[in-house]
Amino acid sequence: MASTLKDSYGRAIRDLRVSLTDRCNFRCFYCLPHGEPPIAPKEQMLSYEEIEYVCEIFVSLGIEKIRLTGGEPMMRRDIETIIQKLSALKPRLHDLALTTNGYFLPDRARGLKEAGLDRITISLDSLKRNVFKEMTGVDVLDRVLAGIEAAKRAGLEPIKINAVIVRGHNEDEVADFAAFAREHDVKMRFIEFMPLDSGHEWSRADVVSGHEIRERINERFPLIPISIDRGSETASRYGFADGAPGEIGIIAPVTEAFCGACSRIRLTADGQIRTCLFSTVEHSLRDVIRTGATRSETVDYIEGVVLRKEPRHYINDPHFVAPSRTMSFIGG
Ligand code: SAM
Repeated sequence: MASTLKDSYGRAIRDLRVSLTDRCNFRCFYCLPHGEPPIAPKEQMLSYEEIEYVCEIFVSLGIEKIRLTGGEPMMRRDIETIIQKLSALKPRLHDLALTTNGYFLPDRARGLKEAGLDRITISLDSLKRNVFKEMTGVDVLDRVLAGIEAAKRAGLEPIKINAVIVRGHNEDEVADFAAFAREHDVKMRFIEFMPLDSGHEWSRADVVSGHEIRERINERFPLIPISIDRGSETASRYGFADGAPGEIGIIAPVTEAFCGACSRIRLTADGQIRTCLFSTVEHSLRDVIRTGATRSETVDYIEGVVLRKEPRHYINDPHFVAPSRTMSFIGG
């Protein structure tokens, strides 16, 4: 029977997000507005063997869900090997998921499925070619749409689609995204813009609230809440009142914080544990395992770090300090 990682507020930690790389082939203005920061030396990054080693320990401590992310995780050439190794941790590991910008999926979705991936989340910020290019810095909307189709064909369902909604860019597309969810039977996730951009140019005025997103959808497609008990899920979930396929999820960390039920910790590509998206401190698991710690010392270290998990984020406090690393380094 697996033990359970608990923080000092009694929250059970069951979800681990693992960033596989800081590198990204997109330049989303809300994440990397000034291009890619200098690439960290390869030797600072965790190897796939190290990722496998620490993930096995995390799973033995009660982690049930691992989401691979980045940067763009599919830029890591050994991603299929990593998935294969991690999928050997099932059934103790219940769920192995990936978040990707979708660019590489047309050719590689099937390989991910064969390696053992359970589920996929694909980012898609606009359905209009010019807006997609303006938001992501790359003119590849058609390729991402083909990636979504390839993921479906490969059986990586249910597919989630992430859209960050930013004032003046894509809030007019919210209901169109809902129509896309209905037509393609996907789970659309709308995310509030968070202060995690590398330029530190985030402004509250650019945030389109979860409330507004819900209203915009409701006007065209009335919604009904799916579950009252949300558990540790980041999204509040809705179905369509007319019974159409597809699902809506609204992730509103800025205006409807859900820290009280947080079950997540993160591991960066260079092996740092982050106990909150907005942590200003990191804990080097990499240094621990590379300096010869035994397994039980590593377990003690992880348990100690988890006890220092923050009670909540401080986005809405006057003295909020944005983390120095951007989402591309932290792993979204
Ligand atoms: N490259 C992959 C992708 O595009 O999905 C995975 C990494 S990306 C950092 C993970 C998610 O974080 C994406 O859905 C992205 O839109 C979201 N994200 C990045 N910066 C954000 C911000 N400042 N506010 C809200 N969401 C953000």
